[in-house]
Amino acid sequence: MFVPAVGRVVTPSEWSQDRLAALHDQLTATGEPSIPVESPVTGTEYAQLPTATESDVEAAVADGRAAAAEWRERSVEDRTAVLDAVADAVLDDRESLTSLVQRETGKSRRDAAEEVFDVAVTAGYYADTAASTLADERRQGVIPLLTRADVHHHPLGVVGMIAPWNYPLTLVVSDALPALVAGNAVVCKPAEATTHVAARAKELLVEAGVPADLFQIVPGRGPEVGPNLVERVDYVSFTGSTAAGREVAALAGENLVPVSMELGGKNPLLVLDDADPEAAAQGAVRSSFANAGQLCITTERLFVHEDVYDEFRDAFVEAVEEIRLGFDYDWRAEMGPLLSQAQFEKTRDHVDDARERGATVLTGGEPRPDLGPYFHEPTVLADVPTDATAHDTETFGPVVALYPVSDTDEAVARANDTEYGLHGAVWTGDEERGRAVARRIDTGTVSINEGYAAAWAAVDAPMGGRGDSGVGRRHGPEGLLRYTDAQTVATGGPVPVGPEGVPDRLWAAGLSTVARLLRKVPRWIR
Ligand code: NAD
Repeated sequence: MFVPAVGRVVTPSEWSQDRLAALHDQLTATGEPSIPVESPVTGTEYAQLPTATESDVEAAVADGRAAAAEWRERSVEDRTAVLDAVADAVLDDRESLTSLVQRETGKSRRDAAEEVFDVAVTAGYYADTAASTLADERRQGVIPLLTRADVHHHPLGVVGMIAPWNYPLTLVVSDALPALVAGNAVVCKPAEATTHVAARAKELLVEAGVPADLFQIVPGRGPEVGPNLVERVDYVSFTGSTAAGREVAALAGENLVPVSMELGGKNPLLVLDDADPEAAAQGAVRSSFANAGQLCITTERLFVHEDVYDEFRDAFVEAVEEIRLGFDYDWRAEMGPLLSQAQFEKTRDHVDDARERGATVLTGGEPRPDLGPYFHEPTVLADVPTDATAHDTETFGPVVALYPVSDTDEAVARANDTEYGLHGAVWTGDEERGRAVARRIDTGTVSINEGYAAAWAAVDAPMGGRGDSGVGRRHGPEGLLRYTDAQTVATGGPVPVGPEGVPDRLWAAGLSTVARLLRKVPRWIR
């Protein structure tokens, strides 16, 4: 069980330590290299990162602001052409980028390749749609036909972006592109573990035509560099844990700076009584163990109708045991290690705690030091009691709990019994029924007959969390307009819309009459 993968393990020569050190030129940081970066595969240190000092952050924001002032004057078509070039650049560099993502995260090549795909698709989407989403809009004026209101979508200035390590290319570049195309600059603080991916992304963006000062990277530890950034920017785009998100949002709130918060989850997948248990099991394997469960929309809770429970459980456990655990730069390994000691310990603690409180380990449940210090088997739990940490708390590791339910109402109620609200999935033989059930799940997105990719990859549709999973949306027009400020310019007409020269009583009576009349005029005429 859990066959070790046997592929190429030697780091590709293009990502030698010298080359990684050269990437530091892309960082806005004058601090001495002092932050150790270690390989998730071996636990050994392979680089030291410099930290952006407060004056580095100040300079990055000031230079970004100056660059944005020029950039916003360029036509939207000019800016979308750069996005098209970004899509080409990442696709041309696919193999090398994939290897770098693997080097820093330890994830499988397949999981890493998806990041390149995501960036190309997102760049293409906003290249095609940004001009119409950002176009000036004519809205209704107060007096039909005689007055008008125009809405303009202005860039905000400098967007501060704080990103996690789990999808280090996607969650830096795909979120930066709409901010850039809207006319903003971006100053990004990537996660410490994956700063070289962000630095390489900057090289590619600049090659594609993004002015160097328009996209800057301020490396360092979150609690140190994050506040320096948050208090200087015009918008904060944060992706990471709920705990850190709360701190960042509170700080942004002091300056009334708008935010989007893409945070954690405890995502449910419902298998309804009419689902094909075999197909559902295959889908659940992918959605539970992609990137070793270190994916915000990964499944951590499986609610399975009792009619199909046994069949589903057996098929699921069998498929999980076929996962090829290990690390290589080929396509053999399917699941890599956890990112770090902290990630590994959290996973191990959740499993041990559940076991001690009476949970059954259906498969997995053990660390794999024979493969590397942070490897842990994909783990399926049953009978997880409500007082176990893994019952309610996000594990963000390769652990999923199976719960039988007696009907759809129970499945929905238990799926919603959480403070989180990021992603849900429904498996059913009847898609229409699945869509109806989906509307009852309190999450920002739901996938039907698919673990998570259907919702994530639908880049035209908004994506984000409710409750402790965050505020705001990425993707779609919503993911672009969040980086803009809507300005209304309303023009009076030949008829006065204010009370000038009219006695108050008459003015009030006139207002009421106008309100009554307006209700009779169809909106399309206005
Ligand atoms: P994290 O919150 O520890 O770190 C995320 C980023 O925030 C890093 O760059 C970090 O340096 C920075 N940071 C940490 N503390 C900070 C502070 N006090 N002030 C400012 N910045 C700070 O999260 P992580 O461990 O990197 O990522 C895992 C978490 O991210 C999980 O909870 C996962 O669900 C969530 N996540 C959510 C999404 C989403 O789209 N909803 C996507 C990926 C990951």
